[in-house]
Amino acid sequence: MHEWALAEGIVSTAQRVAEDEGLLEITEIVINIGELQQIEHEILVFALEQLKTSTMKDVRFVLKPIQGRFRCRVCGEKWAFSPNTVDEEVSEAIHFVPEMAHVYIKCPQCDSPDFDVTEGRGVWLESVKGLKRDE
Ligand SMILES: [Zn+2]
Repeated sequence: MHEWALAEGIVSTAQRVAEDEGLLEITEIVINIGELQQIEHEILVFALEQLKTSTMKDVRFVLKPIQGRFRCRVCGEKWAFSPNTVDEEVSEAIHFVPEMAHVYIKCPQCDSPDFDVTEGRGVWLESVKGLKRDE
């Protein structure tokens, strides 16, 4: 499953960061999750808990949702995705395939469906905190 592959990537990246920075123990891992990406937060956290290494015994996984943002290619208008303005079915479709946004969302200024998704896609590690040797 998608979430498991992500969790694996997050755990191994965090582990590498910890080694680079000489962390003996990782206490907090902050993960940014684009709102337009279809991620089940509960499954992701579950997968992370299963995959965590011995340096992550007491780690806290913090998931930070990043709001979807668009920029119109025609008039330059910028706006944010708000799930409240579309019905649930549409919101689901967009989460599943971000490209679907173009079918349902139009520029609020000029009505053009030609826009870029500037934020809200992807999943990435924001920070890894931990305890260092002799500190
Ligand atoms: Zn526009």
